[in-house]
Amino acid sequence: MQRNIPGAMAAVGGLGSESKMPHGVLSWGFSREHCIRGRELAKKMGTICRVCYGGTGNFRFANVKAAQERRLNAYLDDPEEWAGNMAYLIRHVSPDYFRWFSVGDLRDELMLAVIADVAKHTRKTKHWLPTHEAELVENFGQKLPGNLVIRVSADYIEDWPDSDWPTQHTVHRWPGEPVPARSGDRRHSVECLSYTRGNNCGSCRACWEPRVRNTSLLLHGPGAPKHKKKLLPVHPNNHFCEA
Ligand code: SF4
Repeated sequence: MQRNIPGAMAAVGGLGSESKMPHGVLSWGFSREHCIRGRELAKKMGTICRVCYGGTGNFRFANVKAAQERRLNAYLDDPEEWAGNMAYLIRHVSPDYFRWFSVGDLRDELMLAVIADVAKHTRKTKHWLPTHEAELVENFGQKLPGNLVIRVSADYIEDWPDSDWPTQHTVHRWPGEPVPARSGDRRHSVECLSYTRGNNCGSCRACWEPRVRNTSLLLHGPGAPKHKKKLLPVHPNNHFCEA
């Protein structure tokens, strides 16, 4: 099938370009209202989903919400066709790195299979996918492509995920104090220092790096400690994400 960028963009409902992401790195996701576990987690105090930025800032605007609905519906209408368009787009407009679910999450095994297929057809691209759906990922019956780094996210702030999945993601309250990796070893955890760069990844690609067991993000937005502008020294073992 002959594809072109505008046509493929329309067919997937558009891609996101969050200001935090490195230049030229695009993303795909949908509204947090469609997160299956996340919707339940958001009802509980102390969870990461309770303070999800997907309900703040630009994400509250009607045009942004409409775009999120368009993206999910484009996938649901025809996952196979959607996968072909996504792979084409990633190769052409985000060829080095791609981010899944800046907001949103895996909904079922089919969605993971389709995304894995997109990654298989974009071998030169590094994909990063954070998820609260640990069981879905752990029980996935197929081999995942090596260029797709899935990070199982902790459910609670200052906690690690209840999962042995090798690549994880956590949220901490205090600058310089990332949550240790599940192994308990702080050297296996990289603190996300985007807060020292105006909330931008800069040259850091730790989240896409399979050797990094845990990336820990400083809590921001609702519930974040008020003093966070006074930055403390960063964790000394932060090799990947330098200020
Ligand atoms: S750890 Fe690095 S790659 Fe991950 S979000 Fe933070 S700055 Fe970006």
